[in-house]
Amino acid sequence: MAADAPLFHRSASAASDPRRDHDAGRVAASAWREGRLVLGALADLVAPGGCAGCPAPEAPLCADCRGPLLAPAAPAVPTPAPPGLPRPWAVAAYDGVVRAALLAHKERGRRSLAGPLGTALGAALVAAAGEASARPAGDLVAVPVPSSAAARRARGGDPLLRLARRATALARGRGQPVRLLPVLHQSRAVADAAGLDASSRAANLAGALAVPTGHAVLVRDATVILLDDVVTTGATLAEAARAVRAAGGRVPAAAVIAATRRRGSFRRVDVSPPGFLD
Ligand SMILES: [Zn+2]
Repeated sequence: MAADAPLFHRSASAASDPRRDHDAGRVAASAWREGRLVLGALADLVAPGGCAGCPAPEAPLCADCRGPLLAPAAPAVPTPAPPGLPRPWAVAAYDGVVRAALLAHKERGRRSLAGPLGTALGAALVAAAGEASARPAGDLVAVPVPSSAAARRARGGDPLLRLARRATALARGRGQPVRLLPVLHQSRAVADAAGLDASSRAANLAGALAVPTGHAVLVRDATVILLDDVVTTGATLAEAARAVRAAGGRVPAAAVIAATRRRGSFRRVDVSPPGFLD
């Protein structure tokens, strides 16, 4: 939340200069919106029963904040798409209450959000599996992108795996015979992706993931849908797809909860999402 601090400082100083009233108003409104998210986070600490996206008392998300997670899944291909990227399906943009909810679940261990977030991932999985099933080949398998060992230790488990279990159960309930197989592992350390452009991210990730030899038989000749929480540049999903294909799997699609976007369409922006790189 360090990035929020300058907003409040700018708001206070700008408001003292009448020539900057317009900017001050805009900044103040932005600060208020950011403040709602901060208040939501604080509320989570003192009264974990409230909404993770705003100060409303409904837990874990109020009806307004749940809305963006209930949208139908749509393809969310970053521009430019890295070579080998399976087609990602997403239900929401990675901003506002969706970003707040993902971070609360992942960074602050708010497990009650696994319900709505897992359901959203499930909707994306159903859509991705529907596309993949149009050309059926072998078993239908969902493979989550792994968190690093350090992240799992820091967070007391793998938050994405919790969501993946719910998503897979939902997809099975909707008639997709998909099995969850968490067979991907991080085979070497990677640098923090913050500040890296798309090509640097791809180089940073090359060869970072693998399916251990003993597990390759599980995905060989299977149709694999990758699962992650957010797609930004697509570098992580492309590397995960490379690793699964190296083990003999077919990877036509991926399912994520949210995609970074700008001006109404999904596209790449250079921010670090809470992917396995964190
Ligand atoms: Zn809310």
